[in-house]
Amino acid sequence: MENKIPYKIYLEEHEMPKAWYNVRADMKNKPAPLLNPDTLQPVTAQELEAVFCSELVQQELDDSTAFFEIPEEIRSFYKMYRPAPLVRAYCLEEKLQTPAKIYYKFEGNNTSGSHKLNSAIAQAYYAKKQGLRGVTTETGAGQWGTALSMACSYFGLDCRVFMVKVSYEQKPFRREVMRTYGASVTPSPSTETEVGRRILAEHPGTGGSLGCAISEAVEVAVNTPGYRYVLGSVLNQVLLHQSVIGLETKAALDKYGVKADIIIGCAGGGSNLGGLIAPFAGQMLRGEADYRIIAVEPASCPSLTRGRYAYDFCDTGKMCPLAKMYTLGSGFIPSANHAGGLRYHGMNSVVSQLYADGLMEATSVEQTKVFEAAEYFARVEGILPAPESSHAIRVAIDEAIKCKETGEEKTIVFGLTGTGYFDMYAYEKFHNGQMTDFIPTDKELEASLEKLPKV
Ligand SMILES: *Cc1c(COP(=O)(O)O)cnc(C)c1O
Repeated sequence: MENKIPYKIYLEEHEMPKAWYNVRADMKNKPAPLLNPDTLQPVTAQELEAVFCSELVQQELDDSTAFFEIPEEIRSFYKMYRPAPLVRAYCLEEKLQTPAKIYYKFEGNNTSGSHKLNSAIAQAYYAKKQGLRGVTTETGAGQWGTALSMACSYFGLDCRVFMVKVSYEQKPFRREVMRTYGASVTPSPSTETEVGRRILAEHPGTGGSLGCAISEAVEVAVNTPGYRYVLGSVLNQVLLHQSVIGLETKAALDKYGVKADIIIGCAGGGSNLGGLIAPFAGQMLRGEADYRIIAVEPASCPSLTRGRYAYDFCDTGKMCPLAKMYTLGSGFIPSANHAGGLRYHGMNSVVSQLYADGLMEATSVEQTKVFEAAEYFARVEGILPAPESSHAIRVAIDEAIKCKETGEEKTIVFGLTGTGYFDMYAYEKFHNGQMTDFIPTDKELEASLEKLPKV
């Protein structure tokens, strides 16, 4: 006797999380520490504070505090677009004729169009609190830059964004959204930084990469008084802020007595996945419950499924600390025809450790399969999904189809991280039949992995 679950489960405002959850506190095997690339010793807070805001450094290094109170100012901002709905995908279930129950947590309901705003507002808040003038950052597809420009404009901070050049050229509207919120946007690699000039000299005509844009943004931050660098994924602090996704999801499920069987998230740098699964992984770590957790990555940038678990640089310019993570090598740049996002060469160290310890699975999907799922979902559920999110949609649909074959009534929860309105160039390629799949060969990956730092 199942109570009819609402199409959209919205928590009440007072049911929104008041603290972020730090899953590291419940991990027996802690993620390996960041290392100083020169000394190969764990980085100190003092070293990191040259680059990052102080309070964020504390969050980055804290492996034992389970809950961090969300400051009132951030909670007020969250209320403008949260709680985010947990949607029961009745139409999708019906269309697939599956006995599975499918839910998705929708994070696209804000102008930046993705979950990145959850961390952007937190990072801008701590920068403001520290009395800084501004922050620098990189953006790939543009979602993070947009989110950060919104957050900086809210707190009156200057925002300087280095945008991967191909995206800068392919997504002029993203750029203009950022400028609407007062950010300055520079295509990367640029001639404004030493590292940018070096990369341009080595690879003339390059369309850039995330790792390269990170190096440029870090260089400007450390050389400009009153500025720090902020990053929208990969770091543990970002995972911490994104735990708001998982906490809300769990609260909404608990409210209706629903227990998830399978939890699925797309994985670029690992922040939405890490945030979505945090409270569930916490239960697994404490032996309270069991879930099947699946990370989904692009076949053209398969860090978990084909990378190596090793210390590597977080950026191409090798300026950032070394992180132990599943990586394809910091010099790895996915094929230029890859349109599905999630292009980062590494993976957050918490997600990496949970994966290494067998708490979750990973799978990779080809981009034509991803866009097939995206289009199907848009037609059935009405939301035009981001290509990144569509990796999770693909696997959710595949799992629901398996349930149809076996007759199992599993409950599937996936993260719908954002909308795809700025990705119509990629959709166009798909519709025109011009999208191809690119899977790197073992030899190509080997060549990149050979250059991993010897630690
Ligand atoms: C940035 C982004 C991702 C991937 O980043 P993670 O840090 O892996 O979460 C996924 N979906 C959308 C919509 C994004 O903007």
